[in-house]
Amino acid sequence: MAEAHVLVFPCPAQGHINSMLPFAAALLDAGVFVTFLHTDHNLRRASFVAGSPRLRFLSVPDGLPDDHPRSLGDMMELERSLREVGAVRYRALLASLSSAGAGRPSQDGSDGVDGDRSFPPVTCVVADGLLTWAIDAAEELGVPALAFRTSSACSFLAYQTVPELVELRELPFPEGGDLDEPVRGVPGMESFLRRRDLPSVCRRRGGTGGVGLDPILHVFSKATAHSREVRALVFNTTASLEGAALAHIAPRMRNVFAVGPLHAMSSPPAPAPAPASSLWTEDDGCLAWLDGQADRSVVYVSLGSLAVITHDQFTEFLSGLAAAGYPFLWVLRPDMVAASKDQHATPQEAIGVVGEDKARVVAWAPQRDVLRHRAVGCFLTHAGWNSTLEAAVEGVPMVCWPFFGDQLINSRNVGAVWGTGLDMKDVCDRAVVERMVREAMESAAIRSSAQELARVVRRDVSDGGSSAREFERLVRFIKEITM
Ligand code: UDP
Repeated sequence: MAEAHVLVFPCPAQGHINSMLPFAAALLDAGVFVTFLHTDHNLRRASFVAGSPRLRFLSVPDGLPDDHPRSLGDMMELERSLREVGAVRYRALLASLSSAGAGRPSQDGSDGVDGDRSFPPVTCVVADGLLTWAIDAAEELGVPALAFRTSSACSFLAYQTVPELVELRELPFPEGGDLDEPVRGVPGMESFLRRRDLPSVCRRRGGTGGVGLDPILHVFSKATAHSREVRALVFNTTASLEGAALAHIAPRMRNVFAVGPLHAMSSPPAPAPAPASSLWTEDDGCLAWLDGQADRSVVYVSLGSLAVITHDQFTEFLSGLAAAGYPFLWVLRPDMVAASKDQHATPQEAIGVVGEDKARVVAWAPQRDVLRHRAVGCFLTHAGWNSTLEAAVEGVPMVCWPFFGDQLINSRNVGAVWGTGLDMKDVCDRAVVERMVREAMESAAIRSSAQELARVVRRDVSDGGSSAREFERLVRFIKEITM
């Protein structure tokens, strides 16, 4: 049998990379070779350190000019350009890497292989489930391909249920309808799911005359339906967090593996630390600043890699945080506060309000280390799936202010199901920020739920735990399809 060599291909966005790079690290620990596929732009932008002779980074173009912002508003453009331009190079690269004698560069280097002859041929592709064309192209070339979803299983189930929701007339929402109305039809979630908790695209309308579903919802629901045909579907989640959703998804899929939270599986003291994965430069100075703060005294504020807030929202957050009175560490990416003509949110503005000893503002933090730090008392977050998992593993209470996509359903889980935090959804008001931050910092019930969840989730990824066993089953599956 040939040696297993997996080509891992995430969507070129920080949240997707942060989920699939620990997956690559776990495969390395299991003795599998990994080629991790970035876009040229991302590979140039960040220094990804492989740290293992069995891991290499290669890239394909995304077809956009270098100075293109590639921000949330342009995501569909990025997706289209990657599908049209990158797909051609991806197919050529995969054909060359998977054939006998693969890994050898073409004479003119045109296949993009870096000249490393020590890698066996690629035997399997694990591509982001949103890159359906990458999965199809691999199968057409005779390379078995699996789908990996980087968002929560609950949100996948919601997308999977879209046709039923339309049939039940739950979707599209009635014009001006009450967002607090419960939603029927998403199995296992009927007791707590409201319209406002469904993925944010459900709130928009599209189609002729604006009476149908938003086209982006069609894209997600089609990608979700595509996963049914795929040999296997991998989730960065665990049965303890999303067992009910997984149980409803599995019967409709060929094979489902719940192997998360993957960053906890490959973090120290496991053998190989996960390769570095940030597209931004991390400001390590904030860890020294945290060292000088009392235990559980700091509010960590980060809204992920894509969210953009208005200047008014910035002011509400800042005023609420200042009024709550705890020191805070705030990740304020340079592109994060929407620029308006005469309003510029600056770190100085945030620090100036409370003083340097009580506030630290950075462009990008080493988030996993921050959440692990004894000084952090709660996490004001957008509830992106990675951030949610990272807080769950560290037992840190959350205050959620979700923006889009699966964040709305994740934050509902945090507030109404797990009890590990509060859901501030749709309301950005200084008094609410102040009240919820105080409660998350001080509530013994929330802290104890967060710690209990952390205990359970850590057990899942440790030896013999459900995710660890699922991962072993997945590696066996990958080796079996390796011819
Ligand atoms: N992150 C980080 N430093 C920061 C902010 C975020 O390392 O200052 C990481 C965070 O740990 C997480 C990822 O960026 O792994 C964000 O992914 P998530 O799914 O939470 O949100 P997205 O960015 O996709 O909206």
